[in-house]
Amino acid sequence: MKKFLKIITIVIVVLIVGILGYTYVSLNYYSPEDTEVEIDQTKLQYFQDSYEESRGAFRFQANKLRAKIDSVQLFSRNVPSKTNNDLTIDFCYVPAKKDARKLLILTSGTHGVEGYVGSAVQQMFMNEVLDVEMLDNVGILFVHAVNPFGFKYARRLTENNVDFNRNCDIENSIFSVENSGYNDLLGMLNPPGKANTESFKNKFFMLVVINKMLQKSKAVLRQAILQGQYEHKKGIYFGGFNFEPQLAILSEVFKSISADYETVFNIDLHTGYGERGTAHLFPNPIEDKKVKSTLENIFEGHEINWGDSDDFYVINGSFTDYIGKLLSDKFYLPMMLEYGTLNSQSTVGLVKSLHISVLENQGTQFGYKSVEDSIKIKNNYMQMFNPSSEMWRTKIMNDSKVILKLTIKNYADL
Ligand SMILES: [Zn+2]
Repeated sequence: MKKFLKIITIVIVVLIVGILGYTYVSLNYYSPEDTEVEIDQTKLQYFQDSYEESRGAFRFQANKLRAKIDSVQLFSRNVPSKTNNDLTIDFCYVPAKKDARKLLILTSGTHGVEGYVGSAVQQMFMNEVLDVEMLDNVGILFVHAVNPFGFKYARRLTENNVDFNRNCDIENSIFSVENSGYNDLLGMLNPPGKANTESFKNKFFMLVVINKMLQKSKAVLRQAILQGQYEHKKGIYFGGFNFEPQLAILSEVFKSISADYETVFNIDLHTGYGERGTAHLFPNPIEDKKVKSTLENIFEGHEINWGDSDDFYVINGSFTDYIGKLLSDKFYLPMMLEYGTLNSQSTVGLVKSLHISVLENQGTQFGYKSVEDSIKIKNNYMQMFNPSSEMWRTKIMNDSKVILKLTIKNYADL
């Protein structure tokens, strides 16, 4: 009997050490691999290292377009800020040549820091995809840096810590939406005190999340965290207490440019969610059968995540859905194009992504324990939304070119 107890004890100890070791290593040494592609310098040229450089490169491509097509209009709108008076949303409008029936709005930087990649895709589109032939009945509006503050200061959020993609609606009843699932997770999502990557809780963050997953399913947890919340202004996924100033600015431009068009199609560019190096078509749920079938025709052969896979979630206050509500007299087609970076469809990838977001927010709100913590956390955050890997960048630019070429052709042919 004694021997039996001894064996059981050893088995339990080995199991505990094994689980601790596995969860420690899988989280702290997590590094998803790139798909092998040949690096293409002509694609890397679209990536810049700052908001100002990206904006400059966008304006450069826009000016090149204007030199080719007389009717092109370029304009900027300043987004008010307490700290910086040079934060702009830049627009490049290429009107339809003959009959203004269909408008495509291609938006970047809704989540500021994701604008690096969004800007690169827009520059490539202007330089390599856009063709005068396709403009007979299609107009295109490029919108650069929907959230310029976040772009400039490397955050997804606005100056008010607001996730703009949870902040958009035509009625302010959105700010009374409750998210009780989020409130159950407050200690995990918004820990107090300075961000310290060396703390026990952070080293074993995986266990903290697994513990929650044992109480609630992964899908319930994902939904509670990502849908947005309107209560905790220093918390992650905060949708605001009020509309952010750019909403009115964008609304005015969209109303005026779309006035002549019957159909409006928005592609909102994002990064950070999904399989690494893959472009995901990822709308909020759509009920309307005609909208769904039209989007399927436009993205011919490319898989659209309609909400039936288990990594799906629904968000409140989505920017692309808002445009449809604003332009309710148009036939409206919403789409988010999301470039995956950390394989967040897997459990480890999801936990890693969440951990990076939690630490970055904690550091911004309460400071960092050390300079090393600050560097490490900010670097992980940047890599999550703007990977420096040349293979990743080449791959998503190659894929975007294929998808966007097909998309614009099919849209013109509708
Ligand atoms: Zn995003």
